[in-house]
Amino acid sequence: MDKLAIDGGLPIRTKPFPAWPIYDELEERLILEVVRSGRWGGHAKLSELEEKFAAIHDAKHAVSVANGTVAITVALQAAGVQPGDEVIMPPYTFIATASSALLFGAIPVFVDVEPDSLLIDPEKVEAAITSKTKAIIAVHIAGAPANLTRLRAIANKHGLRLIEDSAQAVGARWDGVGVGAQGDLGTFSFQSSKNINAGEGGMILTNDQELADHAWSLANVGRIRQGDWYQHERIGWNLRLTGLQAAILLGQLSRLDDQMERRERNAKLLTELLDDTQGVRTLRRDPKITRHALHIFMFRIDPDLTDRVNKADVIRRLNAEGIPVGFGYISLNQNKAIINETKKWTGEERVYSCPNSERACDKEILWLSQNILLAGEPDMHDIVAGVRKVMASFQ
Ligand SMILES: *Cc1c(COP(=O)(O)O)cnc(C)c1O
Repeated sequence: MDKLAIDGGLPIRTKPFPAWPIYDELEERLILEVVRSGRWGGHAKLSELEEKFAAIHDAKHAVSVANGTVAITVALQAAGVQPGDEVIMPPYTFIATASSALLFGAIPVFVDVEPDSLLIDPEKVEAAITSKTKAIIAVHIAGAPANLTRLRAIANKHGLRLIEDSAQAVGARWDGVGVGAQGDLGTFSFQSSKNINAGEGGMILTNDQELADHAWSLANVGRIRQGDWYQHERIGWNLRLTGLQAAILLGQLSRLDDQMERRERNAKLLTELLDDTQGVRTLRRDPKITRHALHIFMFRIDPDLTDRVNKADVIRRLNAEGIPVGFGYISLNQNKAIINETKKWTGEERVYSCPNSERACDKEILWLSQNILLAGEPDMHDIVAGVRKVMASFQ
């Protein structure tokens, strides 16, 4: 028997959405080249990838690394962040934004997000700066660049480093310029859910030669670029990406523009239709976001409904209609592991109140993942039909 919707009727949709990843003979050919070269580590495709990736984001330098988490750790350390230093960041993000700091004793300080964009609120950043603050991490959540103009100005005013966690924002642009190197350093992830992926992988971008060399050294067991093999000038990790991953990433990058255009087109349609739908609201998009990477399409349950409409229930009903909406994050300021680890390093139980992030996580925000935005126009109408049916059931 077919699966039924929660109301006992037939679901709006039974057809699957596009699977992820998308690949073809190109990735197969590129990876075979690396296999047959016998150079599975330091293959020339790694520098080709770094150059291409930097160019896409208007950056001068790129350093490839093993994943997006260590990319942030390396960026923080290259930027001079030390154990005990404070790093300002939003709580509405993946745990890696905070754990990358805590893993070497740097302390996350949470500043709430704007309620209508879910990006860090620049107006609240200055109040969180102390004598221990060393850096701000701007997280381009869902692929939407945070306000880099304001954050850059605040960082400059207070002598702080600005790091862009761009894990979800490959190809995104703020005010016409690529993300990643508008801060001192920017980091990316190629983990399998991300818009450009090789199973795992990461990248660091910067316009500063010294920061690039420092990051490279930290990711290459403390070597220096022109040095001897057994010349280690500092203590570093081995965080290198392989040639096999570079091959896949070059293949994936060849589709970036087409996929970004398709997501943008579908997101525009979804936004128009959902703006015209009872019970839900779309997010505000800053006009300076000249290109949104749309790693996630987020929309929210109407705040006027959330005292009687439960987010998990809405998701259960939508999923039963064949609409693969997800729940998303738990606000990081409430994560026990982060609270405990922070206490371990500071001796204090630090409690942050971030009502906008908490409300978004617990009651309001719904996720559609990027691959869904690669479907066709009729599929977007299916999604909205599902949302309208479910939200009408609460009227
Ligand atoms: C995925 C992600 C990371 C971590 O990247 P990994 O490659 O999984 O280590 C960091 N920050 C954000 C916002 C992410 O979405």
